[in-house]
Amino acid sequence: MEECWFVYGLHIWRYFIGLEVYHSKGTESSVSFLWEKAISRLCIGWCHTHPTKNILPSPTDHRTMRSWVKGLNRSFLCGIRYGSKTDYYCFRRLKEDRSKIGYNKLKHHRIGAVVLAKIYGKDKVS
Ligand SMILES: [Zn+2]
Repeated sequence: MEECWFVYGLHIWRYFIGLEVYHSKGTESSVSFLWEKAISRLCIGWCHTHPTKNILPSPTDHRTMRSWVKGLNRSFLCGIRYGSKTDYYCFRRLKEDRSKIGYNKLKHHRIGAVVLAKIYGKDKVS
C-alpha cells in the first residue's frame, strides 16, 4: 500500500526546509485525492513510498509533478521512499525554457519528519 506525506515549509532560493505532515496510506492517487492539502501555500511538495528499491521518479511521478508545477506555477519537492531510504527531487520550470519542466535530485538531510534539502547541479528535462 502506498504511503504519502505532504511537506509543508519554506522554499528559499536553493533551499527547502520542511516538515513531513498528513501521513496517509492509500492508493497511487493519494496525492491528487488530498489535493486541498497540496494547494496550500505552505505545501512545498510531498513524499511517497515506492513498492520496489527503484526510487527514481516513475512516469506517473513525472506526469503528476509537471502538472502541479505548471498548474500552480511554482517548484515542488517530490520525495520517494523505499524502506529507510528516501531521495528528494525538485521539479521546476527550466530557466532556459520556462515552458518546460526540469527536475533535479537534491542533497538532503532528514531528521525525523524534518527535511532540509538543497538544489545543486543542472536540471534534467522531465
Ligand atoms: Zn512514485
